[in-house]
Amino acid sequence: MSTKYIFITGGVASSLGKGIISASLGKLLQARGYKITIQKFDPYINIDPGTLNPYEHGECYVTADGQETDLDLGHYERFTGIRTTRDNSVTTGRIYQSVIDGERRGDYLGKTIQVVPHITDEIKRRIRLNASKEPLDFVITEIGGTIGDIESQPFLEAIRQLRWELGKDAINIHLTYVPFLAAAGELKTKPTQTSVKQLQGLGIQPEILILRTEHNLSDDLRAKVAHFCNVDVEAVIQSQDLPSIYQVPVNMLNQGLDAICLKKMGIEPGPPPALGKWKDYLERREKAVKMVNIGLVGKYDLQDAYKSIRESLAHAGVYHDRKVETTFINSEFIDPENVDEKLAGMDGIVICPGFGRRGIDGKIIAVEYARTHNLPAFGICLGMQMMVIEFARNVLGHQDANSTEMDSDTSCNVIDLMEEQKKVTQMGGTMRLGEYECGIVEGSRAWEAYGQQSVTRERHRHRYEFNNKYKEEFESAGMRCVGVNTISDLVEIVEISDHKWFIGTQFHPEYSSTVLKPHPLFMDFIKACAD
Ligand code: GLN
Repeated sequence: MSTKYIFITGGVASSLGKGIISASLGKLLQARGYKITIQKFDPYINIDPGTLNPYEHGECYVTADGQETDLDLGHYERFTGIRTTRDNSVTTGRIYQSVIDGERRGDYLGKTIQVVPHITDEIKRRIRLNASKEPLDFVITEIGGTIGDIESQPFLEAIRQLRWELGKDAINIHLTYVPFLAAAGELKTKPTQTSVKQLQGLGIQPEILILRTEHNLSDDLRAKVAHFCNVDVEAVIQSQDLPSIYQVPVNMLNQGLDAICLKKMGIEPGPPPALGKWKDYLERREKAVKMVNIGLVGKYDLQDAYKSIRESLAHAGVYHDRKVETTFINSEFIDPENVDEKLAGMDGIVICPGFGRRGIDGKIIAVEYARTHNLPAFGICLGMQMMVIEFARNVLGHQDANSTEMDSDTSCNVIDLMEEQKKVTQMGGTMRLGEYECGIVEGSRAWEAYGQQSVTRERHRHRYEFNNKYKEEFESAGMRCVGVNTISDLVEIVEISDHKWFIGTQFHPEYSSTVLKPHPLFMDFIKACAD
């Protein structure tokens, strides 16, 4: 079978859940036995979201091969278990960068370089890149933003051209919003009609419409949309708000989204896929009513800032038949007087990743509380570094202990830049990024958590590292370096073994935790918190 392309665009408003729809469709096609990938094309000019703060863009997700990407790639991986790469995340910045690099090399000698055809050709090349590297049945391409944006135009033009070239092998799904006007007591389809007209004006006739709505849409209303938009009635699908994003694949399956896609591409769909394990997960999730309370100690009070951590905690909870309630605890407002009150009722805390000074004092106070009160604590990246600093100050007696990120003149640099990072002059894409192999010390708590496995591969996103000069001092006082990079000797995991659960990881386990394969450290942490 030739590779088929499914484009997912959005109109009317942003944040309608294109990422979840893409991931859900990927899941359904995969459940039918197809080999798929999902990629995101973002129209903004940044090369990647690595330099954006979470207020702008939510969490920055990192692929195994070290690309800093949009958080939707996290959904793709968590839903489908595929491993995305740098080719699954493309921005306008990267498109222009490669075209301009080509111009300087002389690839286009004598020619004027233009948005059409040079930029659009580069977009088309990248849309097809994944399928040129491995055999794929379906490539789902989500276009970020909404179709009216100025930045989106080259992407839509590239899609228009590809649809023409590929014929039946390419379809377009357009996601819109149907608002409910409370005063009139009516659902309104006009914004959807306008949005589809706009898409048609760009030469793209969507085959399928997905209408995001807070209310059930009647058959009449769907028929009306179909009629105005040149779309089959059965291809007007509703995406109602659901209690969990993980119910979306089932909702889409019930309305036959996958079967309609196949039919539009000339494939006989046959019986619907079973989604066995997925449904088992949902059922277990439904039944998990006993709570476990986890405090997220960090500086961002934002839904999306710690997305992967929250999802990883929730998945792990389900497998322990617990509902995980995460409470955000702003570390900027934690002080020695109020820490017990702030952490009251928590069964465990996660000390969150981050950059810069803001909120770190509160993180250190929270770590001290957890360490001295036998409260389960999981430090991730900056969180692990805070565990190390707290231990150095309060157990080893190095009052001045710090990370050189926070205090470049500290006399006790327990966290410091590694040599190769000292040479770095550019901020973008220069951290230690992506997967590295970590050896785990036999008999340690982490080793037990990993099911007595002695190596793992985990994803990174940081510049600073544990300073090995202090390793022995830490170990003899009870903080052990139980995970170490197998090639360099960089410390990856620290733990206090005689604590209920006190582990810090320099890597980000949350990036590789999926619904059907939750990360062992999250599993073990929740187990300890639930006990
Ligand atoms: N700021 C720290 C570093 O660069 C930690 C980064 C993080 O938590 N992702 O090493």
